[in-house]
Amino acid sequence: MLEDNHHNKSALHVNDGIQQPEQINKAAVERLKQAKKKQLSVDQYINGILAGDRIILSKAITLVESTNLSHHSLAQKIIEKCLPHTGKAIRIGITGVPGVGKSTFIEALGKHLTSHGYMLAVLAIDPSSSRTRGSILGDKTRMEELSVDQNAFIRPSPSAGSLGGVARKTRESIILCEAAGFNVIFVETVGVGQSETAVHSMVDFFLLLMLAGAGDELQGIKRGIMEMADAIFINKADGDNLKNATRAQSEYKNALHLFPPTESGWVSTVGTCSARSKIGIDNIWETIRAYEDFTKGNGFFGRKRQLQRELIMFETINETLKTDFYLDSEVKKIIPATIEEVLSNKISSYVAAQKIMDIYYKSKRGNQL
Ligand code: GDP
Repeated sequence: MLEDNHHNKSALHVNDGIQQPEQINKAAVERLKQAKKKQLSVDQYINGILAGDRIILSKAITLVESTNLSHHSLAQKIIEKCLPHTGKAIRIGITGVPGVGKSTFIEALGKHLTSHGYMLAVLAIDPSSSRTRGSILGDKTRMEELSVDQNAFIRPSPSAGSLGGVARKTRESIILCEAAGFNVIFVETVGVGQSETAVHSMVDFFLLLMLAGAGDELQGIKRGIMEMADAIFINKADGDNLKNATRAQSEYKNALHLFPPTESGWVSTVGTCSARSKIGIDNIWETIRAYEDFTKGNGFFGRKRQLQRELIMFETINETLKTDFYLDSEVKKIIPATIEEVLSNKISSYVAAQKIMDIYYKSKRGNQL
C-alpha cells in the first residue's frame, strides 16, 4: 500500500490530472479589449494627460501616430488643448551612429536625471524603423532600468513612414509629454541620415555622440551634423580606449575651430564620457544647463523656438498640399499613363509634371463649383 502510494506520487509516473480551469479568462480578455477600443472624449484625454496618466498619454500618442483620419482630427483637438501647458521642458536631441552607445548613454543620463527628481520622456525618430534588430527603441532589452523608472516614459519610434510624417508625430508627442508633466525630453536618432535636421528643428540642444579611433567617414557623420551639434562627446572613454578618446577630443576641438561661428554664439563643447562606467555624465548635464542659461540670456533660446514654430507651420502646409495632391482622384487616374509617356520619351518630365499639375488645379476648381 505504502509502496503503491509512493509509486503514484513518482514524477516518473503519469497520474490522471484533475480538470484544470480554462487558462484564459475570456470575459476578462473581452473587457480589456473593449476598454482598449473605448474611445475617450477630448476632455477625458486632456484631463488624463494633465494628471500625468501614462496610459492615457500613451493612447494619445497612438492617436497622433495613427493614419486613420478621425484619429488624426481627434489628436489635433487634444494637441491644441495641451499646447498652453507646454514649453517649460528642455528638449534635447541625441544622435550618433548605431553602436556608439546612445541607449547606454540615455539610460545613464536618464537615471541621473530621474534620481534628481526630473521627469524624463524619451522619444525617437527613426524613419527606417521597419528593421527589427537594432531598431532604436524597439528593443525591449535596452534601457532596462529607465524603462521601469516611475519618473521616466520611453516611447519607441513610430513605425516607418516618411521623414516628414515621423517628424510631425514626434513633435506632437513632445507636446503631449510636456503637458503630462515631463520636464526633460530626449529625442534620439541614428546619426547617419537626414533625420538629424528634423530633430535639430524640434530640440533646444543637440548632442552628438562619437567614437574615438574611427574616422568621420567611418562613422558616417556628415560635417553638417557636426556643425549642428551644441556638444560633441566621445563615448567609451574607458579602459584601453581612454587615451584614444582624449586624443579624439582635442582633434575635434581643433576641427570645430575651423567651423563658422554658431548663430547662438555658443561655442560647441567637446568632451569625453563613458556611458557604461557613468563617467562624465553629470558633466554633460551641466553643459546642457550652461547652454540653456547662455542662450536664454542672449535671447537665442526663445528665438529658436519661434523659428521652429514658423517652420512647423510651413512644413504642415507642404505636407498637407502634397497629401491632397496625391490623393486627388483625377491625379491618381492620370499618373500611370503619364509615367509611360515620360519613360518612352514622348514628353519631357517637365511637361509631364505640368500636365499632372493642370489636372490637379482643374479637379480642385471642379470640386469648388
Ligand atoms: P546604440 O546603438 O548607439 O544605442 O548603442 P548601445 O547603447 O546599444 O551600445 C552599443 C554597445 O556599446 C553595447 O555593447 C554597449 O554595452 C557598449 N557601450 C555603450 N557605452 C559604452 C561605454 O561608455 N564604454 C564601453 N566600453 N562600452 C560601451
